[in-house]
Amino acid sequence: MNENLQIRTYKKSGHLEVICGSMFSGKTEELIRRIRRAEIAKQRVKVFKPKIDNRYSEFSIVSHNEQSYPSEIIKDAEEILEKSFDVEVIGIDEAQFFDNNLVDVCQALSDSGKRVIIAGLDQDYRAKPFEPIPQLLAIAEYITKTLAVCVICGAPANRTQRVTESTDRVLVGGENHYEARCRLHHVVKEDAAKTTS
Ligand code: ADP
Ligand code: MG
Repeated sequence: MNENLQIRTYKKSGHLEVICGSMFSGKTEELIRRIRRAEIAKQRVKVFKPKIDNRYSEFSIVSHNEQSYPSEIIKDAEEILEKSFDVEVIGIDEAQFFDNNLVDVCQALSDSGKRVIIAGLDQDYRAKPFEPIPQLLAIAEYITKTLAVCVICGAPANRTQRVTESTDRVLVGGENHYEARCRLHHVVKEDAAKTTS
């Protein structure tokens, strides 16, 4: 065989993609879109979500515009390692509900040649960075910030307004608890008290 025609084969590099933004900004929609395209290309895919998120389905990730894709519920990030040895593309939704171990897990998966796609809230309802998303943004090759539409003025919205009284950081719910708001129309209870005193 002509040596000039030899094709070199390289080990495939993996990478990490993060999709983040407020609630209703289309994170799950975008994750489903990417996973479906990978599946069309006959890649082996698997999608995971945390145990806490059983709002719409135990067995699927579901977007607010009712698209869905089968997923597995897991209780901690390490479980993803055990369950992903035979897949090429891994999707993880609601990543903000995992602890910081998710960062090492995503790094290990990407290092081993897999494509990892994470979706999650980048800020909590007080507009504070929501770990472990900031750490994942730091190590990701690709970052997509999704924006919703502010329900007050129609501006691009990157914040999540809690419209019920609870002050727990984690309050799982949809339209009944939260709204998409822009910077101007996002109100944190303590800030409101400060400006009126
Ligand atoms: P996320 O995962 O970021 O919460 P989803 O992908 O589940 O978002 O849902 C996105 C869909 O939510 C949009 O396509 C739209 O149909 C719907 N939606 C509801 N409220 C809003 C809003 N205020 N701005 C934009 N989209 C909204
Ligand atoms: Mg979502």
